[in-house]
Amino acid sequence: MKRISTTAALLLTTIAIVWSSTVCLHSQEPVKEQTMNQDTEAISTPGAGDLTIKVVFDNNPYMEGPACPESMAGRLGTAWGFSALITGTDKTILFDTGGDGSLLLSNMKKLAIEPNSIDVVVLSHIHGDHTGGLNSFLEKNPSVSVYLPESFPKKFKANVQKYGAQVVDVNQPLDICENVYSTGQLGILIKEQALIIRTNAGLVVITGCAHPGIVKIVNTAKELIKDDILMVMGGFHLEWATRGKIEKIISAFKQYGVRYVAPCHCSGEKARSLFEKHFGKNYINIGAGKTIILADLQ
Ligand SMILES: [Zn+2]
Ligand SMILES: [Zn+2]
Repeated sequence: MKRISTTAALLLTTIAIVWSSTVCLHSQEPVKEQTMNQDTEAISTPGAGDLTIKVVFDNNPYMEGPACPESMAGRLGTAWGFSALITGTDKTILFDTGGDGSLLLSNMKKLAIEPNSIDVVVLSHIHGDHTGGLNSFLEKNPSVSVYLPESFPKKFKANVQKYGAQVVDVNQPLDICENVYSTGQLGILIKEQALIIRTNAGLVVITGCAHPGIVKIVNTAKELIKDDILMVMGGFHLEWATRGKIEKIISAFKQYGVRYVAPCHCSGEKARSLFEKHFGKNYINIGAGKTIILADLQ
């Protein structure tokens, strides 16, 4: 009996050694490993109840209830640009940094967001209204990974590294953390990445300025992760678009089965009111200070 259990113990030890060396070999594989896992069947989706998106920086003010001196006092400042904070995912993510560092930090303070709570910064594209707050943020918290389109100038990347932050070049689609993905850099003239969050109610797509085209971005998200689109939010880049073009985009959204829309930043008033007209109660009015709790969209 004793001999059998000793043999069994030896066998188990051997299996454990072989298994752990396999794990070690895997962990030494290059950064390429990070590229997107297409086998989405194997990925567990989080309960959307934990997920929130806060608009930290936007040129649109957000008003809840009637304007009164008390509500004005705590209201966030607005300026041209966009930044949003994603919490409830494995990593806390700041998507874009707005156009002005001091306004970004003061808005974060008003929202009780501690810069040190952020693990990852994702920059959609090079324009100053999305990257302008980065230096001020890195002064507060350099212990972050900054995901930026590979095409960013070397000088920009070196500056990020100078603060002690890690630069992650994005070319192809990749996983940022469980259930959060970058579309990869899209577009020809102005390269841009968008963020995709996978929830149990569908995909959330967040765009900075949507220079490659908002429909192209939604299509890319749908192609990468074959799931329904729960919400598209952020800058849709339709400030100067004609009514006809905007309506074509709205019908493309309907064809893709987009359930909620939350356009802000460079979407423009005309597009915002047309989206509101066509999406009705599934249009979400957002601006600086708005919090979207994804469980509310079930
Ligand atoms: Zn832009
Ligand atoms: Zn912009």
